Amino acid sequence: MKQLFVLCLTLGALPGFGETRQTPVAPIAPIALYTHFDQEPPDGVLEALHDELESIMAPMGLAFEWRSLDGVRGNEISVELAVLTFKGRCDTAGLSAHNAANPGALGWTHVSDGAILPFSDVDCDRIRTFVQKDLLFVRPPDREESFGRALARVVAHELYHIFANTSQHGSCGVGKAAYTVQELLGDDFQFEGRESQALRTSKAHGVQENATRTPTP
Ligand SMILES: [Zn+2]
Repeated sequence: MKQLFVLCLTLGALPGFGETRQTPVAPIAPIALYTHFDQEPPDGVLEALHDELESIMAPMGLAFEWRSLDGVRGNEISVELAVLTFKGRCDTAGLSAHNAANPGALGWTHVSDGAILPFSDVDCDRIRTFVQKDLLFVRPPDREESFGRALARVVAHELYHIFANTSQHGSCGVGKAAYTVQELLGDDFQFEGRESQALRTSKAHGVQENATRTPTP
């Protein structure tokens, strides 16, 4: 109960944000995504990762700004944030014609004493070995885009846990507990009803809206 009280106090203090004389806010207040890659991905993968996450999350009114964790100086300001660590190889070179049927978790979000923390890991190696045979059927110039889209769907799933503040899963869409290769590589994969609603009414969405409405001095 004490924790809940502290959380409510923090929320109650938020409107004050609008009264301070900060620099003018942008028309949209994005959620900061701090990233660390074990191995820097090629531009084609990175671009598809950014574009696909935007297309999955925009219908829920959530916007993101990507920042490198490696360049953090400690003076950045953001209303909400999450930290994403990408493990292994996030490229499409050297694929083999064998999909791992059960590669293990493709991504996971850290939890402490039942509280969901804004830290997620995405396992590029496992996603690669899970989809690689099918990626070989994609035209070589389109492979990085397909793989980047697959990574974005795993990222969107983990961000759902963080920003909807839940460990629950849906029965279909990006919020379901396990994905097929086709769902990772297909043209379109979105959140469905309940999970989509949970994100629309999330604290992160409310905080983002408040910051966006802050009048400029
Ligand atoms: Zn999950």
